[in-house]
Amino acid sequence: MPPLTIAIIGAGPGGLLLARLLLRSPPPISVSIFEAEASATTRSQGSTLDLRPGGGLKAMREAGLWDEFCAHARWSGEALKVVDKKLVTWLSRSGGSQTEPREWGAAPEIDRRVLRDVLLGSVGEGVVRWEKKVASVEVDDGTGKGVVRFVDGGEEGGFDLVVGADGCWSKVRAAVSEVKPVYSGVGGFSFSISDCERRAPEVWKLVDGGSVFGYSDSKGLNGQVLGDGSVSVSAWGVRGEDWMRERGYDVYDLEQAREGTKKEYVGWAKELTNMLDAVDDDVVPRSLYMLPVDFAWEHKRGVTLLGDAAHVMTPFAGIGVNMALQDAMELAHAIIDAAKETGKSVGKDVLDEQMRKYEKELFPRMHAAQEITDGAMKDMYFTEGAPRTSIHRWCSTVAGHDMHPLVRPVFTAALYTYFFIFRMFV
Ligand SMILES: Cc1cc2nc3c(=O)[nH]c(=O)nc-3n(C[C@H](O)[C@H](O)[C@H](O)COP(=O)(O)OP(=O)(O)OC[C@H]3O[C@@H](n4cnc5c(N)ncnc54)[C@H](O)[C@@H]3O)c2cc1C
Repeated sequence: MPPLTIAIIGAGPGGLLLARLLLRSPPPISVSIFEAEASATTRSQGSTLDLRPGGGLKAMREAGLWDEFCAHARWSGEALKVVDKKLVTWLSRSGGSQTEPREWGAAPEIDRRVLRDVLLGSVGEGVVRWEKKVASVEVDDGTGKGVVRFVDGGEEGGFDLVVGADGCWSKVRAAVSEVKPVYSGVGGFSFSISDCERRAPEVWKLVDGGSVFGYSDSKGLNGQVLGDGSVSVSAWGVRGEDWMRERGYDVYDLEQAREGTKKEYVGWAKELTNMLDAVDDDVVPRSLYMLPVDFAWEHKRGVTLLGDAAHVMTPFAGIGVNMALQDAMELAHAIIDAAKETGKSVGKDVLDEQMRKYEKELFPRMHAAQEITDGAMKDMYFTEGAPRTSIHRWCSTVAGHDMHPLVRPVFTAALYTYFFIFRMFV
């Protein structure tokens, strides 16, 4: 039997990890990744991601990339402060020891760009086909094989499976569903402060090697340390979908975006607005889109989805990349199991059976993650008086996600009691 032939659309973390795992499979599997970008360095790869035990960390170990991951991960980056606009601290978590990599109970940070480089380096030359922007995917009724069509008019076919790992605006999704992401109601800017310790020592002190999340008045102002000594600053707020056009200034111009944003944070503690004063790099205006929380698709032979293509969420629970990596792991197991069986069970479409199993496991897992993320967004951006009025729920939702179901109710009860008492004093 010829090896299974898999096309992966998108060289993000999910697509790359899937390729890495398939290329290590004992039964040989042929893998091609088609990526829209021209090269690995085309686009700013964004800020920092925390990898968690059941998702990203497990994936790194299974992919044989644990040591390389540990060499770049910031264990101290777990430090987190949640404050309000007056700088009242509602939650404070210290960072781990940078010299102490561990898999359980940890959520080390890694820059998105570095994670992508680690994964890219692991798949070897020639696997990623750059500048191959996909327009659509079809399954040929006659042969049952997948055909990938590109925006430049070219096409490639003969694939046993086409995997949509092409993010929020997936073109592969259209092969299985008409549903499109909807605007979450939240948008804003990502900025960057270069060489923060030297250029803005007061901000450096505030973020304390990790992250500070400021919330009030349906807005957020966040700072997160990156591995190169810069601090990524994001300013999110509840606003209409057309906010970029309605702002009356050029949202891609750093100075104009910074000055416009500062006006929205009048009355916030100077320690927080210092972050906006110090930004000197990278202005990225973003409207945050999400798939409906109950999104699922009818199974279709020859095509499936993973990561943001399957369940794009807002970043407010910080679990998107962990989900993408876990999806890639589960999908790799299913494809490798099929590759082991292919040829042995004549007349049975083992790959299709495995894809049904993968999707059956995926849907409840992704719905749980989508609900958590939606809840986290509503708690901080759509609840009057947040964080004071919602911090107990937010903590329970975000921190309780990885907990054993028996521990979670006890943890939640303790949290609610703690914040009930804490609120009496602030
Ligand atoms: C501001 C922000 C902060 C975030 N913070 C966190 C966090 O702290 N923790 C966390 O877990 N998650 C976070 N996320 C989410 C996380 O980045 C995503 O969930 C994750 O990157 C999804 O990985 P993916 O591989 O599915 O898709 P992506 O990373 O989106 O990769 C998709 C790839 O497909 C390519 N592509 C797209 N269209 C096509 C096409 N037509 N043809 C070919 N290629 C195509 C793209 O160029 C890209 O390389 C954040 C997201 C944002 C926006």
